[in-house]
Amino acid sequence: MSLLDELYREIILRHYKSPHNYGPLDSANVRVKGDNPSCGDQIELMIETAGERIADLRFQGQGCAISQASASLMTDLVKGKSWAEALALEQQFKAMIVDGAAPTPELGDLAALSGVHKLPARVKCATLAWNALEQAAHQAGVRR
Ligand code: ZN
Repeated sequence: MSLLDELYREIILRHYKSPHNYGPLDSANVRVKGDNPSCGDQIELMIETAGERIADLRFQGQGCAISQASASLMTDLVKGKSWAEALALEQQFKAMIVDGAAPTPELGDLAALSGVHKLPARVKCATLAWNALEQAAHQAGVRR
C-alpha cells in the first residue's frame, strides 16, 4: 500500500469512527432520507437553508465506512456555502467517483475517496450523501 493510500484510508476511518456534523438538527427546514440497499447504507440529511445558503446541516445514519465518511466529509465541505457552490462540488465529486476524474483542490479531504472509482460496487456508497444533497436542493427549490 502506498503512503497516499494509507493516508486516504486513515482519513476515511477517522470520519467513519468520529463523524463530523452528526446528530439531529432541530433548525432544519429540509430533510431527506436516502438508502443504498445493495450495501445496507442509510442516511438522513437535515439542512437549515437560508435563502441561497446552506446555513447549517447535519446527518444521521448507519452503514459502511465509505458511505458514512463520505457524508461526514460532504457536510464539512458544504456547510456555510451557497447552494450553487455545493452543487458544483457535487459535480466535481461525482466526476471523480463515477468518471475517474482527478480530485479537484476544492474537494479537499474528499480526495480520500477517489479510489472508489475502481470499486464499482461501492460507487453508490460514496454518492449516497451527495444524492441526498441534490434531492435536498430540489426540495429547497434551488434551480441548477
Ligand atoms: Zn456501503
